[in-house]
Amino acid sequence: MRLSELHTGQTGRIIKILGHGAFRKRMIEMGFVRGQEIKVVLAAPLRDPVKYEIMGYEVSLRRSEADLVEVEQIASEQPETSHARHERTINVALIGNPNCGKTSLFNIASGAHEHVGNYSGVTVDAKMGHLTHKGYSINLVDLPGTYSLASYSPEELYVRRYLKNETPDVIVNVVDASNIERNLYLTTELIDMDRSMVIALNMYDELESEGIKLDFKTLGQMIGVPIVPTTAKTGRGVGELLDTVVRVYEEQDPAVRHVHVHLGHDVEAALTDIKDCLKAHPAVSRHFSPRFMAIKLLEGDAEVMEEIRRLPDGAGILELRDKKIKEFEKIHPGDDLTAVIADEKYGFITGALAETVDRSNERDRDNTTRLIDTIVTNKLFGFPIFLTVMAFTFWATFTLGSYPMEWIETLVGWLGGLCRDYLPDGWLKDLVADGIIGGVGGVIVFLPNILILYLCISFMEDSGYMARAAFIMDKIMHRLGLHGKSFIPLVMGFGCTVPSIMATRSIESRSSRIITILINPFISCSARIPIYVLLVGTFFPAHSTLVFITLY
Ligand code: GDP
Ligand code: MG
Repeated sequence: MRLSELHTGQTGRIIKILGHGAFRKRMIEMGFVRGQEIKVVLAAPLRDPVKYEIMGYEVSLRRSEADLVEVEQIASEQPETSHARHERTINVALIGNPNCGKTSLFNIASGAHEHVGNYSGVTVDAKMGHLTHKGYSINLVDLPGTYSLASYSPEELYVRRYLKNETPDVIVNVVDASNIERNLYLTTELIDMDRSMVIALNMYDELESEGIKLDFKTLGQMIGVPIVPTTAKTGRGVGELLDTVVRVYEEQDPAVRHVHVHLGHDVEAALTDIKDCLKAHPAVSRHFSPRFMAIKLLEGDAEVMEEIRRLPDGAGILELRDKKIKEFEKIHPGDDLTAVIADEKYGFITGALAETVDRSNERDRDNTTRLIDTIVTNKLFGFPIFLTVMAFTFWATFTLGSYPMEWIETLVGWLGGLCRDYLPDGWLKDLVADGIIGGVGGVIVFLPNILILYLCISFMEDSGYMARAAFIMDKIMHRLGLHGKSFIPLVMGFGCTVPSIMATRSIESRSSRIITILINPFISCSARIPIYVLLVGTFFPAHSTLVFITLY
């Protein structure tokens, strides 16, 4: 529990100080160290700040500060032993790009059964899990996938706020080994934050099957973060990962070293001045390192700018920032500072990988994939193939689906007839024959349509055709202000609007997501089939498939 949760008169024992940098240092200097007893003396009239007694002296802390002190409550008769147990709790957060295998790792480590998906945005909030490893009790949190720690997308904001408010003891940065260069960008941001961290080099099986060799030990030493290869699908390397987490927590891992990702002479100069200025405000670096805050400030990160603006001297710091950016632009005309920072980070990554990756035995893989790509996204064949696939889908849904529909109709009719024959006249007969059998029958008769449509859609998704369809549809979707990805939920809308609106969460941009949701009800869902059936059956019995497609 947190110190702020103790009530007046209660006593707690300190487990650890969360927080960061100057705040943490000051607290430790004041005697807030593991094992110390602390008593709540009294709270100010507005409940903030609160006066505490520690080591025989009294100290007042704001609630926000007391929130960063983890304690266990000491009941008067509580035995000593529970102390040792609590001390060995490690809070671990899984952070990584979408689809790098965080949830798989979470499930295999904690024995949970969270949904694993092959598209982004499956995990939209944090999932908690728990496990014990070699006497340590580990709380594991699966966070949404994120490409960076900017405050641009909801996922990024979520992860950053989590890191800020919950200050996990150890971060497990899950890195997709088959996509290592892009994945390490997030790692450089975590390095800037200067937190205890372990890298899980996941999908290691794919790296091996591609014949690529990565000297992860050297890479880990270079970036100052221990790296453990894992294959979350099978659980390989997870034990070693947890061992490393414990070692890092106990500050016993030799690979841990604080590294600066050098951002070039001029950026570094600007950073140093801003950092010095920030250091005068301990509140700023309570959660994040001054370097991280200074970089985000230079990048113009909205949330950090707002936080700085609210400081007593905020305007001054922002002025300094603007001055530094102007100076930089004078030296590098036409260069955007944010882009330069990203370039330098990628330069750092490329450099580190150049020394540790051996591609000499790389297999020239997936020629078939490339061949399929050139055909299904071809200028000439792309759309005809797409239309054929769609036409097949609807033909299967409606023409093939009409057979089981007939069977169901016959069955329902037969059951209804049975009731009519054998039940005595009266309200019960009407209820069962027309109400229940007729009513339910009228609904389940559409089941074959829906099942076949969903089968086709899942086949397209799992075979990877959906991604290609999104690719070729992108331009048309773009006219509506949408991304090609919106196409997937829109197609699902043919089945049912509810799951299709749920599927929009794979779309990153908020505006695209909302537009897709709003136009989705205009897509003809399967519940509208009876009306089409009526129209087609009445007016165009000879060309039903064709008219059906045209109606859609
Ligand atoms: P998340 O978005 O980071 O939570 O990723 P998921 O755990 O949902 O995994 C994304 C996909 O990668 C799923 O299809 C997993 O089965 C697959 N996957 C996860 N870990 C591995 C691994 O180590 N090797 C391979 N080959 N596939 C993996
Ligand atoms: Mg996930």
